[in-house]
Amino acid sequence: MEQINTSARNTTSPAGSDQPRIVIIGAGPTGLAAGYRLRELGYRNFLMLEQREKVGGLAASETSPNGFIYDIGGHVLFSHYEYFDKLFDKLLGDEYQLLLRESWVWMCDRFLPYPFQNNIKYLPKEIVYECLMGVIEAQKQELDLTRFKNFEELIYGVFGKGIAKHFMMPYNFKVWAHPPKMMNKEWIGERVSVVDIARVLGNVVLDRDDAGWGPNSTFKYPRHGGTGGLFDRMRPYVQENLRLCTGVASVDVASKQVVLKDGSRESYDILLNTTPVDLLVKSIDGEVPDEVKCQAGRLRHSGSYIVGVGVEQPVPSKKCWMYFPEDNSPFYRVTYLSNYSPEVVPDASRYYSLLAEVSHSEFKPVNRATVVEDTIQGMINTKLLEESDRKDIVDAFLIERDYTYPTPSLERDCALKVLHPWLESRDIYSRGRFGAWRYEVGNMDHSVAQGVEWVNRILQDDRENELTYLAKRGC
Ligand SMILES: Cc1cc2nc3c(=O)[nH]c(=O)nc-3n(C[C@H](O)[C@H](O)[C@H](O)COP(=O)(O)OP(=O)(O)OC[C@H]3O[C@@H](n4cnc5c(N)ncnc54)[C@H](O)[C@@H]3O)c2cc1C
Repeated sequence: MEQINTSARNTTSPAGSDQPRIVIIGAGPTGLAAGYRLRELGYRNFLMLEQREKVGGLAASETSPNGFIYDIGGHVLFSHYEYFDKLFDKLLGDEYQLLLRESWVWMCDRFLPYPFQNNIKYLPKEIVYECLMGVIEAQKQELDLTRFKNFEELIYGVFGKGIAKHFMMPYNFKVWAHPPKMMNKEWIGERVSVVDIARVLGNVVLDRDDAGWGPNSTFKYPRHGGTGGLFDRMRPYVQENLRLCTGVASVDVASKQVVLKDGSRESYDILLNTTPVDLLVKSIDGEVPDEVKCQAGRLRHSGSYIVGVGVEQPVPSKKCWMYFPEDNSPFYRVTYLSNYSPEVVPDASRYYSLLAEVSHSEFKPVNRATVVEDTIQGMINTKLLEESDRKDIVDAFLIERDYTYPTPSLERDCALKVLHPWLESRDIYSRGRFGAWRYEVGNMDHSVAQGVEWVNRILQDDRENELTYLAKRGC
């Protein structure tokens, strides 16, 4: 792709004018950031199409009829990018809450601080013993990540049988809705710390607390509007180029047009897609090589039921979020959302809110009809609520999304190596959580960075950090 001449600034020229016309599909964090950056650089000849009536995508927030605001799953902001930090400050000023990144695991009828392996002393003695023996056994072999073929092998090889059985295997299945042996190990990157046996043993023998959070591990959360409050504030910057309630039905690669759900068409010179790349490929009108179709069909994902529960009581805990590996609850994580900001409940002196996340896939079907009740029962089973609290539940709100986690499956990296180059050869770029399909760079800050870096590449010929969208592993 040639570098674009941005000299003809401040125009809203249609396709065919000096400035190539950019169409962006989706106004989630990736699309919004691309639009924001285009305008920041003075580029005006672009159109952003969003199927919903609002911006923010998976990072939007929803308001229940009773006035409780819920995010689409617990969103904890952890920025890796200076650009993102500055953007956050510009958009929110001082209208944010600063919170401690603390997390807990609920197991065996008790809470232990996260990370699990450093706090097994809280568990019954026989489990502590099993976990310790497992780590010792695993560490008899020199740690060589290359010998593990998949995520399950890595779990057993790094953490040992005990931690695998009691936490890592059940918890990861609950989150990913895929067996860990179907997942690659590359996505983990620096996320899994090698188990420090001296530390694990020391914490047990010396009865030492070892939470992963310290005084500096804080995160910011918008004071108003939930997580989506941040992205709502980007909207005015791209408003002129944004069309809401405008779903894209298909892409005609031969004529370089997107076909909208109402049948009308929009021409593009360059297309930025931020919607699931497998759906994009399926929607293409015109010739798509069999290999591209086949690789798109090999990508795997899971969906979520997000259940928000509002309770008319003062909040009983200062906790932020908690993990639930056991099968006495359908959710893998619950957030005390009203501890993030008092503004997400109608009156924080009277109400608090819980946000539960339940994953689903073909390997882990979930009954939609009962998921709200099953979640409330799960909250009772795990002592977040008591049976007598049922009368104080004043809100129970279900948010459903089919695409929430792009699974880092064994086939993923090879599939992406085929998909992205072919799309780019047609002037279609696919970025963002499901556009690029790389979970490890699929958080809000990464998504914003992908949008910005893509614009920098197209307009200024800067190098995109290709790790953000292309897998580095050879196939
Ligand atoms: C359960 C869960 C927990 C998360 N937790 C965190 C966290 O703790 N921290 C963090 O930083 N991030 C978290 N994230 C990730 C965060 O939500 C994503 O990084 C971000 O939303 C991705 O932005 P995106 O623009 O790439 O994609 P999306 O947010 O998916 O946006 C894509 C947009 O495209 C639109 N669209 C789709 N199809 C069409 C079509 N055919 N036509 C027009 N428009 C279309 C959609 O409506 C949407 O607005 C979490 C996500 C989930 C689901």
